[in-house]
This record gives sequence, C-alpha cells and structure tokens, in this order.
Amino acid sequence: MMGFDLIFGPSVERGPKDRTIYLTFDDGPNERATPAILGTLATARVPASFFMVGDHVRRFPSLARRVVSEGHFVGNHTHNHVKLHFASRAKIQQQLEVAHRAIEWATARTPRAFRAPHGYRSPFLRPVARELGYTVFGWTFGVFDTERPGVEEIRRRVRTRLRPGAIVLLHDGDGYDPEGDRMQTADALPGIIEDGRAAGYAFGSLTELLGNHS
Ligand SMILES: [Zn+2]
Repeated sequence: MMGFDLIFGPSVERGPKDRTIYLTFDDGPNERATPAILGTLATARVPASFFMVGDHVRRFPSLARRVVSEGHFVGNHTHNHVKLHFASRAKIQQQLEVAHRAIEWATARTPRAFRAPHGYRSPFLRPVARELGYTVFGWTFGVFDTERPGVEEIRRRVRTRLRPGAIVLLHDGDGYDPEGDRMQTADALPGIIEDGRAAGYAFGSLTELLGNHS
C-alpha cells in the first residue's frame, strides 16, 4: 500500500494485505550484528531487506557484499545518515549519489530503493530519487530496538504489532556509529521469525514491492 503526500510524493509503507510480512534492517552494515542476522536468516530461509549507510558500506564492503550474495535486498539510506528535512537539494543529491556508488562498488548491485533516515523526507527527495530510479520506502511499524529495551521486549513488541502486509523496521547498525551495538536486535530475530510463522505469516522481500511509483 502506498502512502501519498502532495509535498513529499509517494512512499511504500505496507505490502498487499495478505499473510506476508517484510523484515527490514537499517543503518548497517555492522561487524557484529549483520553477520549474526544473516546467519539467522539463512538458517530460517527468510529473505530480508537492508537499507545501508554508504559510509558504513565503505568501511565494511565485504559485509555489504555478503548481504547481496545471500539473496537479500539492498537499499540506500544516505551516505552519513543525515536528516533530510532541512537539507538542500544539492546536499540530498550528494548524500544519495555517494551512497549509491558505495553500494554499487561494494556489491556490484545497483540499488533500486531508498529509505530516509528517521523517516524525515523533503520536497527535494522526490526528483532526486526519481533520477536514480528509486522506489521510496517507509515502514508500517518500528519497535524502537535502537533504544535496546531487551531481547525479549523487542520480540514482544514485534509480535504484538504484526499485521498483514507489515513492513517491519529493525536495525542491524547505528546510523552514526559504525561500532554501534545492535546485538539485542540480532538476538531477538530467531524469536521474531518463530512468532511470525506461528501466527501464519510468510516473509517477503521488498523486491516484490518495487514499482514505478515516481
Ligand atoms: Zn536509519
């Protein structure tokens, strides 16, 4: 389902309302949490989507490459995790293009999607995203896992908010600190997948929601 805003343009905030949910991880790659999350996803055979910070991709290119080689979807999340709402068009363009090139360099894959840090969009984002051929994604719900409320609490929050078509916002990194600790999220993931399956959901990739939204 698309949200549409006259100023900010369209963004995809939910999938079709069937029994599919979409796990997404922002702010990586991260040396500890990303491999742990990839291991869980591989064991459970679950696809996921990763919106990466270009600067972290430059720092950990082999992790970015691994995300793609294991079949997951990769999107652009700016180069330095800047809040876009007060940024100039030139700054937004630079942030998206530099991260775009970093992802292409590290993964040999051209990203086709963007998610704005903190969800702060800007009227300038739409034309820049369109030039790069991006679908802009939001999310259905987040669980404030960045505040590290505890592994079981992260799991509980996801379980209680799940609904058909939900795009779930989680974090495998810290947008500003490449060494940030996201192990609670990584440790919550096996339980999140178990709960989702127990509730009758399948896991989808945002690839399925790409479209000509611009
Ligand atoms: Zn972020």
